[in-house]
Amino acid sequence: MRRMMGGMQADTVIVGAGIGGLSLAHALARAGHSVVVVERNPSPPMFIRPELLWPATVSWLETLLSSEIRRNLEWLPLEGIRVTDGDGVWETVGREAMKRSGIQPLSTHPARTRQALWETAAFPILGGALFEGFERDSRGNVQAVRVRQGDKEFVVETRRVVADDGAQSPVRKAAGLDFPLHEFELSFVIFEAKPFPEFPRHGHLWRPRQTIAEVAAVAVIPYAPEAAMGLAICLEGGRAMEEVWRDLKEARVPHVASLPENFQKLPHYVPRWGHAPVYGKNGVGLMGDAAHPVSPAGGQGANMSVADARVLADAILHAGDCWVDAYEAVRRRPNGRSMRFTHVARFFQKNRLAGFTTGFADWFTHRLARHPSWQARLLRQAATAFQ
Ligand SMILES: Cc1cc2nc3c(=O)[nH]c(=O)nc-3n(C[C@H](O)[C@H](O)[C@H](O)COP(=O)(O)OP(=O)(O)OC[C@H]3O[C@@H](n4cnc5c(N)ncnc54)[C@H](O)[C@@H]3O)c2cc1C
Repeated sequence: MRRMMGGMQADTVIVGAGIGGLSLAHALARAGHSVVVVERNPSPPMFIRPELLWPATVSWLETLLSSEIRRNLEWLPLEGIRVTDGDGVWETVGREAMKRSGIQPLSTHPARTRQALWETAAFPILGGALFEGFERDSRGNVQAVRVRQGDKEFVVETRRVVADDGAQSPVRKAAGLDFPLHEFELSFVIFEAKPFPEFPRHGHLWRPRQTIAEVAAVAVIPYAPEAAMGLAICLEGGRAMEEVWRDLKEARVPHVASLPENFQKLPHYVPRWGHAPVYGKNGVGLMGDAAHPVSPAGGQGANMSVADARVLADAILHAGDCWVDAYEAVRRRPNGRSMRFTHVARFFQKNRLAGFTTGFADWFTHRLARHPSWQARLLRQAATAFQ
């Protein structure tokens, strides 16, 4: 049986305890602002996926977490990226490029970062609580959000709601801010792996080329000295994935000791992407994947979300009723820049005709390996696009 309860009040309600929503809540709470986070999962998420964080993101997150927590997180400084293809092994990002660019990417376990932000919260997080809708005044402005937690229904009174509830954002739909999303042509199968023993701090990418047509690459990205995330980047093909997976196992991917047996049990993502035409109205604002879901290309999504949080905190604390406009004025351009990585990846994927994409990827890989100046430029672009 459902019971409607009254009760809570907050200056800002954030729906979704993603990396962006939680860091925004920390920044607001620290400034003495009352904030409540509504999250459908009862506890911090335990998902696996690789997540590179760039220096600007790391330095802001460091201001939100105590030094002890930061030490326990053990974010791993990545020393390079090596690509294996039919022609050999290529270091496509190396120490020299990092030195030249001054950029040190950190490889992280995303669930651990979110858990640290969750467990150190000095604000209420309503875990296991679903956003159900808004209560509005006669002009359409938000007055409260309706929340369901188990068999209880209640409202949290607020004039400001921030949606960090992911690419499919229920808040965005309820606020009349929805927009069509595009399907990314690649999908991602994720598994736990071990770092390559000889280069335990390098990311490794194996390109099977035409031998397994449905797999563009298999990546292994260490996030701790002994642990790594594995990622199979898959293309649409005629064959069932079980069959493709069997071929992959038999092909003995050079840097993967053994692929997990049961492909069906592994997390499988088909990213959606798009950019909201407006970032908010009537007291509702969108951030992170709710505003601009992207593909993993360029390692941008989580970094964009944290950059949104930083600007939103400032706009909420200092721009009064114009907080959405102030936030959008700063964030639309950098978010558009970050989306270019998805556009480029998609262009090559869509034009996968007559070996053109494979030929270009070979040419680019080999060139990149020979030119640390190209590597440094690419690193700088990925590390700064979202700022
Ligand atoms: C394979 C892969 C690799 C990636 N690699 C990188 C990388 O290297 N670097 C990078 O920066 N990004 C990367 N990303 C992207 C990154 O993970 C996302 O962009 C980022 O997690 C988005 O964070 P967010 O805070 O915006 O939202 P999310 O993390 O999606 O959080 C949304 C939250 O909202 C909650 N929610 C949803 N609906 C409701 C509801 N009705 N009520 C209450 N709560 C709700 C969900 O439970 C969830 O906790 C990668 C993504 C993938 C799939």
